[in-house]
Amino acid sequence: MMIQRIREYGFTDEAVLKAMAAVPRHEFVPKSDNLLAYDDTPIPIGHGQTISQPYIVAEMTHQLNLCPTSRVLEIGTGSGYQAAILSIFTPHVYTIEAIDSLAKEAKERLDRLGYNSVHVRNGDGYNGWLDEAPFDGIIVTCAAGQIPPPLIEQLAPGGRLIIPVGDQCCTQWLVLVIKESDGTITTKKLMAVRFVPLVHHDVE
Ligand code: SAH
Repeated sequence: MMIQRIREYGFTDEAVLKAMAAVPRHEFVPKSDNLLAYDDTPIPIGHGQTISQPYIVAEMTHQLNLCPTSRVLEIGTGSGYQAAILSIFTPHVYTIEAIDSLAKEAKERLDRLGYNSVHVRNGDGYNGWLDEAPFDGIIVTCAAGQIPPPLIEQLAPGGRLIIPVGDQCCTQWLVLVIKESDGTITTKKLMAVRFVPLVHHDVE
C-alpha cells in the first residue's frame, strides 16, 4: 500500500521502490504507531523529532543517484530508517545524529535488523564528517536556514547534496546541490517541504 501511494505521485524509480519495500518501516516507529507505519505520513519518534513521510524519503533517495561504490553522509539519523534505505544501495553509509539517545537507539535498531554496515555518530552534522569525506551523496533530513558550507566542501566532484532549506515559520524548499567535476556548484529548488530544524550552535 505504501509503495502504491508513492507511485501515485508519479514516482517511477524502481530501485528506490524496491528498497522501500524491503525495509520494515514499522520497526522504526514507536510500537503504539505500528498501524500507521505504512501510511504516507511522518510519525513522531520522541524528543520532538519525526520519521519523514515515505514519499519524501523516496524522492530524496532518488535524487542521490546511488551506486554500490557511493559514499553517503546523512545528517539527522533519527530512527535510522533513511539510513537503512541508503544501506540497501551501498555499504558506505555514515550518519550523524545530534541527540545522543536517538543515535544510540538507531545504532542498536540498525544492528538488530541486520543493517550493520551503517556508521552512526552522535554530534552536530553541520560540520559534516571530515575524517570520512569526500562524499558522493549527502542527505540532510532536518531543515537548515542556509546550506552549511562544510557540507558543500565535503562533496566529491560529481557529488550531490539534498537538503531542506528554510525557517520553521515559512516555506522550506528541498534543494539539490550538485558539485560538477570541475568544482562548479549548481543548485536547484525541487519542492516545498516541512522538516524539523537543523540545530546548530556557532562556536564563538
Ligand atoms: N532521517 C530520520 C528522520 C530525521 S528527523 C529517520 O529516517 O528517522 C531529523 C533529525 O535531525 C532529528 O533526529 C534531529 O535530532 C536531528 N538533527 C537536528 N539537528 C541536527 C544536527 N545539527 N546534526 C545532526 N542531527 C541533527
